[in-house]
Parts: sequence; C-alpha cells; structure tokens
Amino acid sequence: MCGMDIFLNNLKKTRLSDEDAKLIQAAKETADKLHLEGIHEVASALRTSKKHIYTGIHTNANVGFADVCGEVAAMCHALAHGEREYEAIVAVWGDGKGRYELLSPCGRCRELIGDFSEETYVIVGSLDEPYKVKVSDLLPLKYHRLSKES
Ligand SMILES: [Zn+2]
Repeated sequence: MCGMDIFLNNLKKTRLSDEDAKLIQAAKETADKLHLEGIHEVASALRTSKKHIYTGIHTNANVGFADVCGEVAAMCHALAHGEREYEAIVAVWGDGKGRYELLSPCGRCRELIGDFSEETYVIVGSLDEPYKVKVSDLLPLKYHRLSKES
C-alpha cells in the first residue's frame, strides 16, 4: 500500500446531499454556457452559508501564471455579492459537448478556500462516485500568517 492509498483510506469522506448534487449541476451548466476551447473549460460552483450558489469559469492566460482557476472565479463572484462564508465548492471540466470530469482543486485553490474557512467542503472523487471532504483534510498543516497581535 502506497502513501496515497493510506491518505485516501484515512480521508473522512462525506456523502453528497441533494444541494451538493445541485452544485455539480450548476458547475456543469456553467461549463457548457461559457465553454471556449483552451480558454474556458473548467467551471466551479460555490454554495455559501446563505445557501446561494455562485459560479465561476477558469480563464487560461497566454502567460501561465496569470491563469485564473474556476474556484477563484467563483469565490470572487461570491465576494462581489458580499458573501465570504462558504459551505461547499466543486470544479468540473467540460468539453462543451456533454462530456465532464470532476476535478480536485489545485494547491493554490486549496490554500485560498482554506483562507476563508478550513471547514468548507470540497466535492472530489469522480462524477460517478463523488464525495466531499473538508478542505483542511486536503491541505494538512496549512500556512497561516503570523497574527500582528501576537
Ligand atoms: Zn486552482
């Protein structure tokens, strides 16, 4: 058994709720609506503590470091509406022709999601067998800035 198997076996996986299934559907619809091959292929949907859903689309830049992940776009969408408390987030790749894949967040997104709340659920696995885990379980020993008060 390799380290990844041990990690996955010890991960606290939670079954999806109906509202989580709606979140996946919202990401798929966004991926279809905004699909532009090579530029906008990954959509994200985020549910806030107020039960609102905000979506975002990945933007591929000519200069790689300027790429914006779908999750970041969804968080910025929620922030633009004044919402900072997130319950769950998902990212879905789509080919614009009805094929989809569920994606795990990249390391940068894990950091950013955790900056808002380490209790936020991330939907991972596959579209056939999705489950959710807390972002803190995907990013143990997360970086924290030193408090200015200490
Ligand atoms: Zn990312």
